[in-house]
Amino acid sequence: MCGIIGVFNHPEAGNLAYLGLYAMQHRGQESAGIIATDGIQFNVHKGMGLVADVFSPETIAKLRGNRAIGHVRYSTQGVSSLENAQPFMINYALGTLAIAHNGNLVNAEEVKRELVDSGSIFQSTMDSEVIMHLVALSREPKLIGRLADALKRVRGAYSLVFLNEHQLIAARDPRSIRPLVLGRIGDSHIIASESCAFDLIEAEYVREIAPGEMLTITRDGMKSYFPFAPEPAAHCIFEYIYFARPDSVVYGETVYDVRLRLGRQLAREHPVEADMVIPIPDSGTPAAIGYAKETGIPFELGLIRNHYVGRTFIEPQQSIRHFGVKIKLNAIRSILRGKRVVVVDDSIVRGTTSRKIIKMIRAAGAREVHVRISSPPTDYPCYYGIDTPTRSELIASSHSVEDIRRYITADSLGYISTDGLRQVTRCRECFCDACFSGTYPITFPAIKEPEQPALF
Ligand code: AMP
Repeated sequence: MCGIIGVFNHPEAGNLAYLGLYAMQHRGQESAGIIATDGIQFNVHKGMGLVADVFSPETIAKLRGNRAIGHVRYSTQGVSSLENAQPFMINYALGTLAIAHNGNLVNAEEVKRELVDSGSIFQSTMDSEVIMHLVALSREPKLIGRLADALKRVRGAYSLVFLNEHQLIAARDPRSIRPLVLGRIGDSHIIASESCAFDLIEAEYVREIAPGEMLTITRDGMKSYFPFAPEPAAHCIFEYIYFARPDSVVYGETVYDVRLRLGRQLAREHPVEADMVIPIPDSGTPAAIGYAKETGIPFELGLIRNHYVGRTFIEPQQSIRHFGVKIKLNAIRSILRGKRVVVVDDSIVRGTTSRKIIKMIRAAGAREVHVRISSPPTDYPCYYGIDTPTRSELIASSHSVEDIRRYITADSLGYISTDGLRQVTRCRECFCDACFSGTYPITFPAIKEPEQPALF
Protein backbone atom coordinates (compact mmCIF):
# COMPACT_ATOMS: atom_id res chain seq x y z
CA MET A 1 0.00 0.00 0.00
CA CYS A 2 1.08 3.54 -0.59
CA GLY A 3 -0.18 7.08 -0.59
CA ILE A 4 0.45 9.52 -3.42
CA ILE A 5 0.01 13.26 -3.91
CA GLY A 6 0.46 15.72 -6.77
CA VAL A 7 0.34 19.52 -6.62
CA PHE A 8 0.22 21.80 -9.67
CA ASN A 9 0.57 25.55 -9.81
CA HIS A 10 1.13 26.51 -6.19
CA PRO A 11 4.10 28.56 -4.92
CA GLU A 12 4.33 26.23 -1.88
CA ALA A 13 3.94 22.98 -3.89
CA GLY A 14 6.67 21.10 -1.97
CA ASN A 15 5.23 22.14 1.36
CA LEU A 16 1.67 21.17 0.39
CA ALA A 17 2.93 17.79 -0.82
CA TYR A 18 4.63 17.33 2.56
CA LEU A 19 1.43 18.15 4.46
CA GLY A 20 -0.63 15.89 2.19
CA LEU A 21 1.75 13.00 2.82
CA TYR A 22 1.61 13.74 6.54
CA ALA A 23 -2.20 13.32 6.42
CA MET A 24 -1.78 10.05 4.51
CA GLN A 25 0.93 8.57 6.73
CA HIS A 26 -1.36 5.63 7.53
CA ARG A 27 -0.95 4.48 3.90
CA GLY A 28 2.75 3.74 4.35
CA GLN A 29 5.45 4.21 6.93
CA GLU A 30 8.53 2.69 5.34
CA SER A 31 9.69 5.62 3.23
CA ALA A 32 8.59 9.03 2.04
CA GLY A 33 9.67 11.27 -0.82
CA ILE A 34 8.86 14.41 -2.79
CA ILE A 35 10.05 15.72 -6.15
CA ALA A 36 9.32 19.37 -6.94
CA THR A 37 10.08 21.36 -10.06
CA ASP A 38 9.92 24.86 -11.48
CA GLY A 39 9.86 23.34 -14.95
CA ILE A 40 13.64 23.39 -15.32
CA GLN A 41 15.26 21.95 -12.24
CA PHE A 42 13.92 18.88 -10.39
CA ASN A 43 14.49 18.92 -6.63
CA VAL A 44 14.29 15.59 -4.85
CA HIS A 45 14.21 14.51 -1.25
CA LYS A 46 13.53 10.92 -0.16
CA GLY A 47 14.28 8.90 2.91
CA MET A 48 13.37 5.85 4.96
CA GLY A 49 10.87 6.28 7.78
CA LEU A 50 7.98 8.56 8.69
CA VAL A 51 7.17 11.79 6.84
CA ALA A 52 7.95 13.95 9.88
CA ASP A 53 11.38 12.28 10.25
CA VAL A 54 12.30 12.25 6.55
CA PHE A 55 11.62 15.99 6.02
CA SER A 56 12.93 19.00 7.92
CA PRO A 57 12.26 22.72 7.34
CA GLU A 58 15.59 22.82 5.44
CA THR A 59 14.81 19.91 3.12
CA ILE A 60 11.31 21.27 2.43
CA ALA A 61 12.79 24.70 1.61
CA LYS A 62 14.98 23.00 -1.00
CA LEU A 63 11.92 21.53 -2.75
CA ARG A 64 11.57 24.67 -4.87
CA GLY A 65 9.08 24.95 -7.71
CA ASN A 66 5.34 25.32 -8.12
CA ARG A 67 4.67 21.63 -8.93
CA ALA A 68 5.43 18.55 -6.92
CA ILE A 69 4.58 14.89 -6.48
CA GLY A 70 5.04 12.83 -3.32
CA HIS A 71 4.78 9.29 -2.04
CA VAL A 72 4.60 7.33 1.19
CA ARG A 73 5.52 3.68 0.83
CA TYR A 74 4.48 0.46 2.46
CA SER A 75 6.05 -2.23 0.33
CA THR A 76 3.88 -4.95 -1.10
CA GLN A 77 6.23 -5.46 -4.03
CA GLY A 78 10.01 -5.09 -3.92
CA VAL A 79 12.09 -4.88 -0.76
CA SER A 80 12.02 -2.04 1.76
CA SER A 81 15.07 0.06 0.85
CA LEU A 82 16.00 3.56 -0.25
CA GLU A 83 16.36 2.59 -3.93
CA ASN A 84 12.72 1.53 -3.78
CA ALA A 85 11.56 4.81 -2.22
CA GLN A 86 9.44 6.92 -4.55
CA PRO A 87 8.90 9.23 -6.40
CA PHE A 88 11.15 7.63 -8.98
CA MET A 89 12.69 9.83 -11.69
CA ILE A 90 14.19 9.12 -15.13
CA ASN A 91 15.78 11.06 -17.96
CA TYR A 92 14.68 9.78 -21.37
CA ALA A 93 14.19 10.94 -24.97
CA LEU A 94 11.53 13.54 -24.09
CA GLY A 95 13.23 14.95 -20.98
CA THR A 96 12.64 14.23 -17.30
CA LEU A 97 9.78 12.21 -15.83
CA ALA A 98 8.93 11.32 -12.23
CA ILE A 99 6.36 8.77 -11.04
CA ALA A 100 4.59 7.96 -7.77
CA HIS A 101 2.53 4.75 -7.72
CA ASN A 102 -0.09 3.21 -5.44
CA GLY A 103 -1.11 -0.34 -6.32
CA ASN A 104 0.47 -3.53 -7.54
CA LEU A 105 1.08 -4.72 -11.09
CA VAL A 106 0.40 -8.43 -11.47
CA ASN A 107 2.47 -8.93 -14.65
CA ALA A 108 5.46 -6.72 -13.70
CA GLU A 109 7.84 -9.69 -13.37
CA GLU A 110 6.90 -11.03 -16.77
CA VAL A 111 7.31 -7.63 -18.52
CA LYS A 112 10.53 -6.97 -16.60
CA ARG A 113 12.01 -10.29 -17.76
CA GLU A 114 11.33 -9.35 -21.40
CA LEU A 115 12.87 -5.91 -20.87
CA VAL A 116 15.96 -7.28 -19.14
CA ASP A 117 16.39 -9.89 -21.88
CA SER A 118 16.50 -7.12 -24.42
CA GLY A 119 19.08 -5.12 -22.48
CA SER A 120 17.20 -2.90 -19.99
CA ILE A 121 18.98 -2.16 -16.72
CA PHE A 122 16.82 -1.71 -13.61
CA GLN A 123 17.77 0.44 -10.62
CA SER A 124 15.17 -0.91 -8.21
CA THR A 125 12.93 -3.91 -7.58
CA MET A 126 9.75 -1.80 -7.75
CA ASP A 127 7.10 -2.78 -10.24
CA SER A 128 6.61 0.95 -10.98
CA GLU A 129 10.02 1.08 -12.68
CA VAL A 130 8.64 -1.24 -15.36
CA ILE A 131 6.18 1.50 -16.36
CA MET A 132 9.05 3.99 -16.77
CA HIS A 133 10.99 1.60 -19.04
CA LEU A 134 7.92 1.08 -21.19
CA VAL A 135 7.43 4.87 -21.45
CA ALA A 136 11.06 5.32 -22.46
CA LEU A 137 10.81 2.58 -25.10
CA SER A 138 7.52 3.74 -26.64
CA ARG A 139 7.74 5.31 -30.11
CA GLU A 140 4.80 7.67 -29.53
CA PRO A 141 5.81 11.32 -30.12
CA LYS A 142 4.09 12.74 -27.02
CA LEU A 143 4.23 11.77 -23.37
CA ILE A 144 0.50 11.12 -23.10
CA GLY A 145 0.73 8.59 -25.98
CA ARG A 146 3.75 6.95 -24.39
CA LEU A 147 1.98 6.65 -21.06
CA ALA A 148 -1.05 5.08 -22.71
CA ASP A 149 1.26 2.67 -24.54
CA ALA A 150 3.04 1.72 -21.32
CA LEU A 151 -0.10 1.30 -19.25
CA LYS A 152 -1.70 -0.90 -21.91
CA ARG A 153 1.18 -3.37 -21.36
CA VAL A 154 0.74 -3.69 -17.61
CA ARG A 155 -2.08 -5.34 -15.68
CA GLY A 156 -3.12 -4.82 -12.09
CA ALA A 157 -3.86 -1.92 -9.80
CA TYR A 158 -2.42 1.50 -10.42
CA SER A 159 -3.26 4.94 -9.18
CA LEU A 160 -0.44 7.12 -10.47
CA VAL A 161 0.88 10.65 -10.60
CA PHE A 162 3.57 11.72 -13.08
CA LEU A 163 5.47 14.98 -13.20
CA ASN A 164 7.54 16.35 -16.09
CA GLU A 165 8.75 19.83 -17.06
CA HIS A 166 5.30 21.01 -18.09
CA GLN A 167 2.58 18.89 -16.61
CA LEU A 168 1.17 16.84 -13.79
CA ILE A 169 -0.62 13.70 -14.97
CA ALA A 170 -2.92 11.48 -12.92
CA ALA A 171 -3.89 7.98 -14.10
CA ARG A 172 -6.09 5.24 -12.71
CA ASP A 173 -6.43 1.67 -13.95
CA PRO A 174 -9.64 0.78 -15.79
CA ARG A 175 -10.85 -1.34 -12.84
CA SER A 176 -10.18 1.64 -10.52
CA ILE A 177 -8.95 -0.69 -7.80
CA ARG A 178 -7.16 1.94 -5.68
CA PRO A 179 -8.63 5.34 -4.84
CA LEU A 180 -7.48 8.63 -6.43
CA VAL A 181 -9.15 12.02 -6.06
CA LEU A 182 -8.88 15.52 -7.50
CA GLY A 183 -8.99 18.69 -5.40
CA ARG A 184 -8.45 22.39 -5.83
CA ILE A 185 -7.12 25.43 -3.97
CA GLY A 186 -8.07 28.44 -6.11
CA ASP A 187 -6.14 27.96 -9.37
CA SER A 188 -4.01 25.15 -8.00
CA HIS A 189 -4.88 21.50 -8.59
CA ILE A 190 -4.20 18.67 -6.19
CA ILE A 191 -4.31 14.91 -6.76
CA ALA A 192 -4.29 12.58 -3.76
CA SER A 193 -4.95 8.99 -2.76
CA GLU A 194 -7.37 10.17 -0.08
CA SER A 195 -9.37 13.33 0.51
CA CYS A 196 -8.08 13.62 4.11
CA ALA A 197 -4.98 15.17 2.46
CA PHE A 198 -7.21 17.95 1.08
CA ASP A 199 -8.68 18.78 4.47
CA LEU A 200 -5.29 19.50 6.00
CA ILE A 201 -4.21 21.82 3.16
CA GLU A 202 -7.68 23.37 2.85
CA ALA A 203 -8.23 22.13 -0.67
CA GLU A 204 -11.73 21.62 -1.95
CA TYR A 205 -12.73 18.07 -3.01
CA VAL A 206 -13.65 18.14 -6.70
CA ARG A 207 -14.14 14.53 -7.83
CA GLU A 208 -12.60 11.07 -8.20
CA ILE A 209 -10.26 10.38 -11.07
CA ALA A 210 -12.51 8.20 -13.25
CA PRO A 211 -11.81 4.52 -14.00
CA GLY A 212 -9.24 4.33 -16.82
CA GLU A 213 -8.84 8.12 -16.90
CA MET A 214 -5.58 9.88 -17.68
CA LEU A 215 -5.88 13.50 -16.60
CA THR A 216 -3.27 16.02 -17.72
CA ILE A 217 -2.91 19.28 -15.83
CA THR A 218 -0.91 22.04 -17.56
CA ARG A 219 -0.82 25.82 -17.45
CA ASP A 220 -3.55 25.73 -20.12
CA GLY A 221 -5.91 23.70 -17.96
CA MET A 222 -7.01 20.09 -17.56
CA LYS A 223 -7.71 17.48 -20.20
CA SER A 224 -9.03 13.93 -19.77
CA TYR A 225 -8.11 10.95 -21.93
CA PHE A 226 -9.62 7.49 -21.84
CA PRO A 227 -7.19 5.31 -23.79
CA PHE A 228 -8.25 1.91 -22.38
CA ALA A 229 -11.24 -0.29 -23.17
CA PRO A 230 -13.77 0.16 -20.31
CA GLU A 231 -13.91 -2.63 -17.74
CA PRO A 232 -16.23 -3.22 -14.80
CA ALA A 233 -15.16 -1.38 -11.63
CA ALA A 234 -13.39 -3.44 -8.95
CA HIS A 235 -12.75 -0.97 -6.14
CA CYS A 236 -10.83 -2.49 -3.25
CA ILE A 237 -13.39 -3.14 -0.52
CA PHE A 238 -10.64 -3.37 2.08
CA GLU A 239 -10.09 0.39 1.77
CA TYR A 240 -13.55 0.75 3.33
CA ILE A 241 -13.05 -1.99 5.90
CA TYR A 242 -9.61 -1.09 7.17
CA PHE A 243 -7.15 0.83 5.08
CA ALA A 244 -8.47 4.31 4.32
CA ARG A 245 -8.89 6.94 7.00
CA PRO A 246 -12.49 7.17 8.25
CA ASP A 247 -12.58 10.91 7.50
CA SER A 248 -11.76 10.37 3.81
CA VAL A 249 -14.26 10.30 0.97
CA VAL A 250 -13.39 7.14 -0.95
CA TYR A 251 -15.27 5.91 -4.04
CA GLY A 252 -17.71 8.75 -3.45
CA GLU A 253 -18.62 7.98 0.19
CA THR A 254 -17.21 8.95 3.57
CA VAL A 255 -15.43 5.90 4.94
CA TYR A 256 -16.78 6.48 8.46
CA ASP A 257 -20.37 6.24 7.21
CA VAL A 258 -19.65 2.92 5.50
CA ARG A 259 -17.98 1.54 8.64
CA LEU A 260 -20.96 2.58 10.79
CA ARG A 261 -23.26 0.66 8.44
CA LEU A 262 -20.91 -2.33 8.56
CA GLY A 263 -21.28 -2.32 12.35
CA ARG A 264 -25.07 -2.11 12.12
CA GLN A 265 -25.17 -4.97 9.61
CA LEU A 266 -22.85 -7.04 11.81
CA ALA A 267 -25.20 -6.49 14.76
CA ARG A 268 -28.20 -7.63 12.71
CA GLU A 269 -26.35 -10.77 11.62
CA HIS A 270 -24.72 -11.60 14.98
CA PRO A 271 -26.61 -10.16 17.95
CA VAL A 272 -25.62 -11.19 21.47
CA GLU A 273 -26.66 -10.37 25.05
CA ALA A 274 -23.92 -8.19 26.56
CA ASP A 275 -23.22 -5.29 28.92
CA MET A 276 -21.08 -3.23 26.59
CA VAL A 277 -19.60 -2.92 23.09
CA ILE A 278 -15.91 -2.03 22.88
CA PRO A 279 -13.79 -1.46 19.78
CA ILE A 280 -10.27 -2.60 19.14
CA PRO A 281 -8.97 0.91 18.54
CA ASP A 282 -8.62 2.52 16.10
CA SER A 283 -9.54 0.14 13.28
CA GLY A 284 -12.66 -1.27 14.97
CA THR A 285 -14.08 1.98 16.36
CA PRO A 286 -16.63 3.14 13.74
CA ALA A 287 -18.02 -0.41 13.29
CA ALA A 288 -18.28 -0.80 17.10
CA ILE A 289 -20.28 2.44 17.28
CA GLY A 290 -22.56 1.08 14.53
CA TYR A 291 -22.95 -2.20 16.43
CA ALA A 292 -23.81 -0.35 19.65
CA LYS A 293 -26.32 1.94 17.89
CA GLU A 294 -28.08 -0.97 16.23
CA THR A 295 -28.34 -3.08 19.40
CA GLY A 296 -28.73 -0.34 22.00
CA ILE A 297 -25.89 -1.91 24.04
CA PRO A 298 -23.74 0.87 25.61
CA PHE A 299 -20.50 1.75 23.81
CA GLU A 300 -17.39 1.98 26.00
CA LEU A 301 -13.66 2.25 25.56
CA GLY A 302 -12.28 -0.82 27.30
CA LEU A 303 -8.94 -0.67 25.53
CA ILE A 304 -6.74 2.41 25.31
CA ARG A 305 -4.26 2.84 22.55
CA ASN A 306 -0.84 4.39 22.84
CA HIS A 307 -0.89 6.76 19.88
CA TYR A 308 2.86 7.09 19.69
CA VAL A 309 3.33 3.57 18.36
CA GLY A 310 2.91 2.78 14.65
CA ARG A 311 0.41 0.21 13.45
CA THR A 312 1.96 -3.01 14.66
CA PHE A 313 0.97 -5.04 11.62
CA ILE A 314 2.81 -2.68 9.34
CA GLU A 315 6.24 -3.37 10.84
CA PRO A 316 7.93 -5.61 8.31
CA GLN A 317 9.82 -7.71 10.85
CA GLN A 318 8.02 -10.54 12.59
CA SER A 319 10.13 -10.09 15.75
CA ILE A 320 8.88 -6.53 16.22
CA ARG A 321 5.24 -7.41 15.57
CA HIS A 322 5.43 -10.14 18.16
CA PHE A 323 5.27 -7.89 21.21
CA GLY A 324 3.52 -5.04 19.45
CA VAL A 325 0.07 -5.59 20.94
CA LYS A 326 1.15 -4.90 24.51
CA ILE A 327 3.02 -1.81 23.45
CA LYS A 328 -0.01 -0.52 21.60
CA LEU A 329 -3.03 -1.41 23.74
CA ASN A 330 -3.93 -1.54 27.40
CA ALA A 331 -7.19 -2.71 29.02
CA ILE A 332 -9.13 -0.65 31.60
CA ARG A 333 -9.89 -2.99 34.49
CA SER A 334 -12.57 -0.86 36.16
CA ILE A 335 -14.59 -0.83 32.93
CA LEU A 336 -14.23 -4.50 32.03
CA ARG A 337 -14.30 -6.28 35.40
CA GLY A 338 -17.21 -8.75 35.65
CA LYS A 339 -18.75 -7.58 32.33
CA ARG A 340 -20.05 -9.39 29.24
CA VAL A 341 -18.21 -7.63 26.46
CA VAL A 342 -18.72 -7.45 22.67
CA VAL A 343 -15.34 -6.71 21.07
CA VAL A 344 -15.51 -5.31 17.53
CA ASP A 345 -12.61 -5.28 15.07
CA ASP A 346 -12.34 -4.84 11.32
CA SER A 347 -10.58 -8.09 10.43
CA ILE A 348 -8.70 -11.15 11.62
CA VAL A 349 -5.64 -11.84 9.51
CA ARG A 350 -3.30 -14.28 11.23
CA GLY A 351 -5.30 -14.27 14.45
CA THR A 352 -2.28 -13.58 16.62
CA THR A 353 -3.28 -10.02 17.58
CA SER A 354 -6.87 -10.94 18.37
CA ARG A 355 -5.74 -13.81 20.58
CA LYS A 356 -3.45 -11.55 22.61
CA ILE A 357 -6.05 -8.80 22.92
CA ILE A 358 -8.73 -11.19 24.13
CA LYS A 359 -6.36 -12.59 26.71
CA MET A 360 -5.71 -9.02 27.85
CA ILE A 361 -9.46 -8.32 28.12
CA ARG A 362 -9.99 -11.50 30.14
CA ALA A 363 -7.04 -10.70 32.37
CA ALA A 364 -8.75 -7.36 33.09
CA GLY A 365 -11.68 -9.32 34.50
CA ALA A 366 -14.24 -9.53 31.66
CA ARG A 367 -16.76 -12.32 32.28
CA GLU A 368 -17.61 -13.06 28.63
CA VAL A 369 -15.87 -11.95 25.43
CA HIS A 370 -17.86 -11.99 22.18
CA VAL A 371 -15.82 -11.08 19.13
CA ARG A 372 -17.50 -9.48 16.12
CA ILE A 373 -15.63 -8.77 12.89
CA SER A 374 -16.85 -6.19 10.35
CA SER A 375 -15.48 -8.14 7.38
CA PRO A 376 -15.94 -11.74 6.23
CA PRO A 377 -13.15 -14.24 6.99
CA THR A 378 -9.94 -13.21 5.15
CA ASP A 379 -9.39 -16.38 3.14
CA TYR A 380 -7.22 -15.22 0.25
CA PRO A 381 -4.19 -12.95 -0.23
CA CYS A 382 -4.39 -9.67 -2.13
CA TYR A 383 -2.30 -9.25 -5.29
CA TYR A 384 -3.42 -5.70 -5.97
CA GLY A 385 -1.61 -3.75 -3.28
CA ILE A 386 -2.85 -4.66 0.20
CA ASP A 387 -0.15 -6.29 2.26
CA THR A 388 -1.69 -9.62 3.21
CA PRO A 389 0.44 -12.59 4.19
CA THR A 390 0.53 -15.75 2.07
CA ARG A 391 -2.58 -17.89 2.02
CA SER A 392 -1.07 -20.37 4.45
CA GLU A 393 -0.65 -17.63 7.07
CA LEU A 394 -4.27 -16.47 6.82
CA ILE A 395 -5.99 -18.24 9.68
CA ALA A 396 -9.36 -18.35 7.91
CA SER A 397 -7.96 -20.08 4.81
CA SER A 398 -7.63 -23.38 6.60
CA HIS A 399 -9.76 -23.11 9.74
CA SER A 400 -13.45 -22.93 10.45
CA VAL A 401 -15.01 -20.06 12.39
CA GLU A 402 -15.32 -22.45 15.35
CA ASP A 403 -11.58 -23.30 15.17
CA ILE A 404 -10.72 -19.60 15.05
CA ARG A 405 -13.04 -18.89 18.00
CA ARG A 406 -11.25 -21.52 20.04
CA TYR A 407 -7.82 -20.25 18.97
CA ILE A 408 -8.53 -16.63 19.89
CA THR A 409 -10.28 -17.87 23.08
CA ALA A 410 -13.55 -15.98 22.48
CA ASP A 411 -16.92 -17.08 23.92
CA SER A 412 -18.44 -16.45 20.52
CA LEU A 413 -17.21 -15.19 17.16
CA GLY A 414 -19.23 -13.66 14.31
CA TYR A 415 -18.08 -12.27 10.98
CA ILE A 416 -20.22 -10.12 8.68
CA SER A 417 -21.39 -12.16 5.67
CA THR A 418 -20.13 -11.45 2.14
CA ASP A 419 -23.69 -10.66 1.17
CA GLY A 420 -24.13 -8.29 4.12
CA LEU A 421 -20.90 -6.55 3.19
CA ARG A 422 -22.01 -6.08 -0.44
CA GLN A 423 -25.35 -4.72 0.73
CA VAL A 424 -23.62 -2.13 2.91
CA THR A 425 -21.54 -0.79 0.00
CA ARG A 426 -24.71 -0.02 -1.98
CA CYS A 427 -23.16 -1.18 -5.25
CA ARG A 428 -22.95 -4.92 -5.16
CA GLU A 429 -21.05 -5.22 -8.42
CA CYS A 430 -18.51 -2.40 -8.05
CA PHE A 431 -16.05 -3.93 -5.60
CA CYS A 432 -13.16 -6.36 -5.51
CA ASP A 433 -13.65 -8.69 -2.54
CA ALA A 434 -11.09 -11.29 -3.65
CA CYS A 435 -9.58 -11.43 -0.13
CA PHE A 436 -12.90 -12.88 1.08
CA SER A 437 -14.35 -14.59 -2.00
CA GLY A 438 -11.26 -15.71 -3.94
CA THR A 439 -12.81 -14.18 -7.07
CA TYR A 440 -9.94 -12.17 -8.53
CA PRO A 441 -10.99 -9.58 -11.13
CA ILE A 442 -7.54 -9.57 -12.80
CA THR A 443 -5.71 -12.83 -13.41
CA PHE A 444 -2.11 -13.24 -12.26
CA PRO A 445 0.63 -15.85 -12.66
CA ALA A 446 0.11 -18.94 -10.49
CA ILE A 447 1.75 -18.71 -7.08
CA LYS A 448 2.93 -21.80 -5.25
CA GLU A 449 1.82 -21.76 -1.64
CA PRO A 450 3.61 -23.48 1.25
CA GLU A 451 1.82 -26.03 3.43
CA GLN A 452 -0.61 -24.69 6.03
CA PRO A 453 0.64 -24.91 9.62
CA ALA A 454 -1.43 -26.51 12.41
CA LEU A 455 -3.25 -24.15 14.77
CA PHE A 456 -3.33 -26.16 17.96
P1 AMP B 1 -3.95 -10.52 13.11
O1 AMP B 1 -3.34 -10.73 14.42
O2 AMP B 1 -2.97 -10.91 12.03
O3 AMP B 1 -5.24 -11.22 12.95
O4 AMP B 1 -4.16 -8.95 12.94
C1 AMP B 1 -5.41 -8.41 12.72
C2 AMP B 1 -5.34 -6.91 12.80
O5 AMP B 1 -4.51 -6.37 11.77
C3 AMP B 1 -6.70 -6.31 12.62
O6 AMP B 1 -7.01 -5.68 13.84
C4 AMP B 1 -6.59 -5.29 11.52
O7 AMP B 1 -6.99 -4.04 12.01
C5 AMP B 1 -5.13 -5.26 11.14
N1 AMP B 1 -4.94 -5.43 9.69
C6 AMP B 1 -5.68 -6.13 8.83
N2 AMP B 1 -5.16 -6.08 7.58
C7 AMP B 1 -4.06 -5.32 7.64
C8 AMP B 1 -3.10 -4.86 6.69
N3 AMP B 1 -3.15 -5.24 5.41
N4 AMP B 1 -2.13 -4.06 7.12
C9 AMP B 1 -2.03 -3.71 8.40
N5 AMP B 1 -2.92 -4.10 9.35
C10 AMP B 1 -3.92 -4.90 8.99
